Amino acid sequence: MTDFPPDFAIHHRGQIYKPLRVRPYEKLDGTSTTVIDWQSTCPDCGKSFVATTRLSWTGEVNRRCQECKAPGRRVGKLPRAATASSPPDSGDAPA
Ligand SMILES: [Zn+2]
Repeated sequence: MTDFPPDFAIHHRGQIYKPLRVRPYEKLDGTSTTVIDWQSTCPDCGKSFVATTRLSWTGEVNRRCQECKAPGRRVGKLPRAATASSPPDSGDAPA
């Protein structure tokens, strides 16, 4: 459950991120902040994964899942799976 409208999503460099939840987060210095968990699709393997950002962020976000992560390696041309819109009413089942 989020406060985002159901169809809310952002398109970042051709990749779609949908908000999963907004949650409190304690930083290393002990102060607390709020972060957003986003669901996206790994352009390398097509798996869905969660990327976390601050409320205000400017382009720094994981683009691959944990298994495929490759900092510094550019994401090439995105396959259709990563750019196509998901069908409505799917993937919202609670874990
Ligand atoms: Zn992957």
